Amino acid sequence: MIHQLDAETIGQIAAGEIIERPFSVVKELVENAIDAGARRITVDVARGGIDRIDVIDDGEGIDAADLPRAVHRHATSKLAAASDLESIATLGFRGEGLASIAAVSHVEILSRTNGAPIGTRVLAYGETIGAAEPAPAPEGTRVRVERLFENVPVRREYLRSPQTEFNRISSWLSSFALGYPKVGFTLRHDGRDVWIMPPSDDERERLTMVFGRDASAGLIPLDPSVAATLDGSLRGFISAPGHDRGDRRMQMLFVNGRLLRSTLLAGAWTAGYATYAMVGRHPYGVLFLELPPDHVDPNVHPTKSDVRLRFGNQVFDAARRAIATTLQKNAAQRFGEHTLGPSVPGVSAAPPALDVSLAHVQSLFESVQGDPDDVPGHRLRVLGQLHLTYVLASDGDALLLVDQHAAHERIAYESIVQRASNGAPSEPLLVPLVVELDGAQSAALDRVAELLHEGGLDIEAFGERTYRLTATPAGYGARAFDLAGFLSDLTDDPKARDVRERIWASLACHSVTTAGERLERDEMTVLVERLQQCQNPMHCPHGRPTMVRLGPSEIARMFKRE
Ligand code: ADP
Ligand code: MG
Repeated sequence: MIHQLDAETIGQIAAGEIIERPFSVVKELVENAIDAGARRITVDVARGGIDRIDVIDDGEGIDAADLPRAVHRHATSKLAAASDLESIATLGFRGEGLASIAAVSHVEILSRTNGAPIGTRVLAYGETIGAAEPAPAPEGTRVRVERLFENVPVRREYLRSPQTEFNRISSWLSSFALGYPKVGFTLRHDGRDVWIMPPSDDERERLTMVFGRDASAGLIPLDPSVAATLDGSLRGFISAPGHDRGDRRMQMLFVNGRLLRSTLLAGAWTAGYATYAMVGRHPYGVLFLELPPDHVDPNVHPTKSDVRLRFGNQVFDAARRAIATTLQKNAAQRFGEHTLGPSVPGVSAAPPALDVSLAHVQSLFESVQGDPDDVPGHRLRVLGQLHLTYVLASDGDALLLVDQHAAHERIAYESIVQRASNGAPSEPLLVPLVVELDGAQSAALDRVAELLHEGGLDIEAFGERTYRLTATPAGYGARAFDLAGFLSDLTDDPKARDVRERIWASLACHSVTTAGERLERDEMTVLVERLQQCQNPMHCPHGRPTMVRLGPSEIARMFKRE
């Protein structure tokens, strides 16, 4: 028997195509914010977006009369007639985003247009759209989505853990942000900032925020000469030979501002790098392709994650040649530097390891003479660094010999323990650290991810084997966190004392100054001061001593004065 489906069922089926998980909601709402000309977009989610998703923008807003209509299926301000479908310049166009979200969750839209005296609010759930009512609101729009899939239990079952759902959101949003460096993005999860990308005129800054410092240092701009043969433009950044990844996830592609799966041009990357990349290794980077709107048909995929190009072959060929040309020119340039370049790295004199400058001898002398506010046992003076391993300091009373690695470990360890016990906030890294892990390491990460999060360390998947470290415990001050080394340690050493303690000790160990690292004077001062504030300043978490203190009586004894 054939019968007509009711509106509610039709709504859910259509929504099912677009709204598969919390990430899909974020994508639709962020794209709407971009279409509305937002300069700042905040995505604030609770429990991976399963409980709540807020997307807040400062765009043009929706006026009171239009607001309920915005939620209706096939209601859009972006298309007027079918012929407009031939040339779509906005990210949205079907008028289905908000309707599909409302079909499977509780939606509240709060919006105020530029100059309007007050905002408007509307509630929608399923097929029911409430009346618009006046409400105070900042200029722009906030869409709040709660209780996702409450009415679609099957879909709920397919959801993964909140952390996994959150990772999907974070990795999509950070990739998307690459295409919009002038727009500021903030991502919040469960009440804390996970990362903030300030708006910037400098595209390089955004690259660094997304790829991390090391990987972005390996990026070179795409040579512009080839793109001239295209009807539109092709620019971007690709990794120089020697900088590569185990998967293709970091090959990003924007076509007319739309972030697409890179499969479209994956072959162009491979062909372009033919003789430069090792088998099984993949270059990374981002390509921005701008084509006349009527050369791109985005209306081929429900979530708009793929497009059809009218002159696909021509674009593919241009991308391949642009990549190959860039690499050739880069290689030629580097060859030139090697044969002609006068630069001789490593010749600059290394600064003395132990600072015995006059100023220092004097300052030490002053402290012995007794400066009025220099109460013995109070003011700390760093005298210098020895063997790039020990910090020499005086507290006006005794001579301190501090093992810089052990001391830093102790400080890091206590701050992690403290963070975990009182839920103190973690600190987003200004520049995330992107690391690649092998199978055993990523399996170890899966096992301890929750504990690490509890300890204030946030790591999200960014590719099959690629991860981004986005936050460390507040006050932890990681200089360079060796995530891979840390995870190998966990897999190598199964004889667990308390698992947590071991993870934290190991975490402390892999984030800190190592022996053999030159420290600046202020770094040494902070190190010794913070060590003194530790509950157990004398030993590192593994039990080795952190410092040796030679007091007046020990020194007197050494000089046979006693
Ligand atoms: P589409 O984006 O395909 O037009 P949506 O259902 O996502 O469809 O949105 C419907 C309409 O609501 C949009 O065309 C736009 O006019 C309006 N709208 C949605 N989100 C926003 C926003 N954040 N700011 C301003 N207008 C918005
Ligand atoms: Mg939309």
